Amino acid sequence: MRRTNLLTALVVAALIVGALIGHAFLWDANATPEAQEQAVAGWREAGNLLFIRPLMLIVIPLIFTSVLTGIVSIGDPKRLGVVGGATLVFYVLTMVLAVAVGITLAATFEPGAGVSPDLVAQAAGGAAPVAPAAGETGLGAAWLAIARQLIPDNFLRAAVERQALSVISATILLGVGLIAIGERARPFTAAVEALHEALMRLVLWIIWLMPLGVLLLVAWGVGRFGLATLASSLGKFVLIVVIGLAIHMFITLPVVLRVFGGARPFRYMWGMRPALLMAFGTASSMATLPVTIEAAQEAGASKRAAGLVLPLGATVNMDGTALYQGIAVVFMFQAFGYDLTFAQYLVIVLTATLSAIGAAGVPGGSLATIIIIVTAVNTTLRGAGVDPLPLSAIGLILAVDRVLDMCRTTVNVWGDSVGARIMTRLAPDLEEERERAFA
Ligand code: ASP
Repeated sequence: MRRTNLLTALVVAALIVGALIGHAFLWDANATPEAQEQAVAGWREAGNLLFIRPLMLIVIPLIFTSVLTGIVSIGDPKRLGVVGGATLVFYVLTMVLAVAVGITLAATFEPGAGVSPDLVAQAAGGAAPVAPAAGETGLGAAWLAIARQLIPDNFLRAAVERQALSVISATILLGVGLIAIGERARPFTAAVEALHEALMRLVLWIIWLMPLGVLLLVAWGVGRFGLATLASSLGKFVLIVVIGLAIHMFITLPVVLRVFGGARPFRYMWGMRPALLMAFGTASSMATLPVTIEAAQEAGASKRAAGLVLPLGATVNMDGTALYQGIAVVFMFQAFGYDLTFAQYLVIVLTATLSAIGAAGVPGGSLATIIIIVTAVNTTLRGAGVDPLPLSAIGLILAVDRVLDMCRTTVNVWGDSVGARIMTRLAPDLEEERERAFA
């Protein structure tokens, strides 16, 4: 059995066993959420210690080495601009497509209409789980959050606080400087390349902890929230999100990959399975990034494209998150009895895309940014003299968030991988270029 197949089989087994353990031994339908949280906390802690922390240890240095070697190897700043520009356009367009699909589904099938009044009343009386600071909400805040990340004022702080977007933009700047000094940069870039190789070697080892990590984290997720909630009055919401994600994963992105990347989408998806499974098991695109880089290179993306496009993708490109946020916000307004107008749907498309860009690639990353979208819609409601939606409405979706997080993170990582494969056309590796020249 090939190593990748063995790993895949082990992770699939871990997913199943983890879910069974969580359901049969950890979930207690009679416990209060707080008691349940405490009872299963150890599983999450063990999963974090044994798997997520070692990966997170590597991820920031890896983003640095991978972006820097990608940039230096492309060399020509003009070409770099073309690759970077094309990547960003690809990211934004696919995210807008994803939200549009999500919102269309939510507006058509109205998942919010069937939510039990008890649940709505409970959410209305609850506290907003992520209380936004004054002035930190709305559309302006979404732009500002992204701009602040793009223009860091302290590289070390950005690295320490794991602000990946800031690390990337600072690294791009350094890369351009290194290209400008030509040959004299060589000793430094050679050292960074060596560091990159060493980190990737570590990833190859840590990857074998994936089955254990996934088992612990899935057991925790199922044990913490229970599977029964998925079939409750939130069942329609869950179903619409899953259908939307499936459309984006199995139809939209494969068509885009076929047309713009000239690749066979499902073969590539099969090649990406370690990363996709890992995304599903961990609900974190950031923790998955090292595996995504490794798998994409194996599956046919060039080293240069994978090195540059994937770190950016893990931070910026979140198709699944954008789609989910769109549906979640429409759902919340529906459940509270609002009728949204077309203009308000457009506000949601715009803010959901922006806030998906700003969301961190960690479990539950989009819960914080959903508030930004709700506030933007609330501003339009206030303008029309209507009472705004209470921010605590987000409490409605908390019980099903983890499972949907696993699904949307898988789509996020798949979207990044498709980007890397398409950009391989613009940034092939040198050997490929040479082969083509002599073909
Ligand atoms: N967990 C997602 C990710 O890591 C972000 C989110 O919460 O939507 O990509």
